[in-house]
Amino acid sequence: AFDESGKIWFNGKLVDWKDANIHVLSHVVHYGSSVFEGIRCYNTEKGPAIFRLREHVQRLINSGKIYRMDIPYGVDELSDAIIETIKANDLKECYIRPVAFRGYKELGVFPLNCPLETVIAVWGWGQYLGEEALEQGVDVGVSTWRRMAPDTMPNMAKAGSNYMNSQLAKVESVMNGYDEAIMLDYQGLVGEGSGENVFVIKDGTIYTPPISSSLLGGITRDSIIQMARDMGLEVSEQQMPREMLYIADEAFLTGTAAEVTPIRSIDKITIGAGKRGKITKKLQDKFFEVVNAKCEDEHGWLTFLD
Ligand code: PMP
Repeated sequence: AFDESGKIWFNGKLVDWKDANIHVLSHVVHYGSSVFEGIRCYNTEKGPAIFRLREHVQRLINSGKIYRMDIPYGVDELSDAIIETIKANDLKECYIRPVAFRGYKELGVFPLNCPLETVIAVWGWGQYLGEEALEQGVDVGVSTWRRMAPDTMPNMAKAGSNYMNSQLAKVESVMNGYDEAIMLDYQGLVGEGSGENVFVIKDGTIYTPPISSSLLGGITRDSIIQMARDMGLEVSEQQMPREMLYIADEAFLTGTAAEVTPIRSIDKITIGAGKRGKITKKLQDKFFEVVNAKCEDEHGWLTFLD
């Protein structure tokens, strides 16, 4: 939940929560001109630590580059600013939301004359799809809305505007009684969730669509692929038809907010035994061990606040 007595980092300075405002005629309000990140800080056994901080910050800078938004801070500066913001808010465990957007100047579509603003906010945020979802799994529906084709909107940019597409799918899925949506890509093959990547397991092999399938290269996705391979499991990044979802033995979603959430049904078809699968549990356990520093940080994924 938001703590309105907190501080927000705004263009290099920490300001009071209530003063972190923009004008209604800012370019971003009208045309969705923003790029952002979602990062988590965990209160580990060894103190608060941010999971894959530099990779997230680099992705933010890359998202900006795609849209010719030259964020005037480097990876080191933004990483330090994130740590400073968490400390200023006295949080040990939080969700971190950096966002860069086109501000107030003029309202033509051409964006490059508007100032670029950079903001970092942090707040406590529990499990995105609900605490019990981690154990019981979620019910998802394949959306009638597809992910953007690669020559329409850049899926690799984590841009605010992409989330209008995500919202269509998410709202449709909730209206239909599901917890989450899976979108197909422009070819009609499995794409991703509205805010998660998708994995399925069949006959012991783990499958997930490749980045070329018009989806966001999730950092959790990448972490799970590496963890699975470290555990000696077979991972195949390959395109999949929709029906591959239905006949999977196990399926799960990954994302910074959703972490590793099992899927128990898709379009009301029960997946496997209709509960968290064995391999999913193994990967989920490993994920929480790593982010909570309960094992060796083999890949150097944790940045401790102190
Ligand atoms: N796909 C979409 C559309 C997302 O919004 C997210 C969340 N950032 C992901 C995938 C997962 O990415 P990550 O694991 O880096 O959070």
